[in-house]
Amino acid sequence: MLQLEDTYRHKGQRKALVKLLKQKGIQDDAILNAINTLPRHFFFDSALDSHAYEDKAFPIGEGQTISQPYTVAFQTELLQLKPGDKVLEIGTGSGYQGAILHILGADVHSIEYQKKLFTHTKKFLTKLGIHLHFYFGDGSKGIVEQAPFDKILVTAGAPVVPNSLLKQLKIGGVLVIPVGDRVTQKMLRLTKKSATKIVKEEFDNFAFVPLLGEEGWK
Ligand code: SAM
Repeated sequence: MLQLEDTYRHKGQRKALVKLLKQKGIQDDAILNAINTLPRHFFFDSALDSHAYEDKAFPIGEGQTISQPYTVAFQTELLQLKPGDKVLEIGTGSGYQGAILHILGADVHSIEYQKKLFTHTKKFLTKLGIHLHFYFGDGSKGIVEQAPFDKILVTAGAPVVPNSLLKQLKIGGVLVIPVGDRVTQKMLRLTKKSATKIVKEEFDNFAFVPLLGEEGWK
């Protein structure tokens, strides 16, 4: 059962989580404020409520997870968001990451491959008053009808960088994507400097559920 009450205890736990994220190296105040604003326990079943402010990923059903808060903050920082940016998020999942992008002023287009999660999260975020553009389908190919995007954020682990995603980025646009095997992936940031020039930066290793689909894991 979902619970939508934000108590002093929850607020205190959220503050402590934000402090921890700062200690782990997250510097962007807008992102820290967004995490401090958004009740993460709303995204949890009430049976798991006591875990909502641990810096951990948790199951959300269908074999999928809500990302660890540090991972959400780190990926969001890498995106270098500007208010109004048109962002494609691949892997809507619980909707937590998409909601953070929305609070930061992005125009969020989020796609999910699992029908049950798509249906549940679309309904849930809308109820919270968080209006994203929701899509059901294979995000490894991007969303060609909505391209180009200022930023693309992949929240599942890919075997390679999907070509379609690079094509659907604006010049000057940024793609953040974990790439590796099914167990661990290196976080990459790819910046599209021109139609033919992509600058690639590599960061730490993470452990995501696999990006499935035509340009993901088969
Ligand atoms: N952003 C999510 C959140 O805040 O809860 C975390 C999502 S979870 C780590 C990864 C999600 O990617 C899962 O919900 C999974 O079903 C989805 N996924 C995997 N392959 C996909 C694909 N090809 N297209 C869209 N979603 C995909």
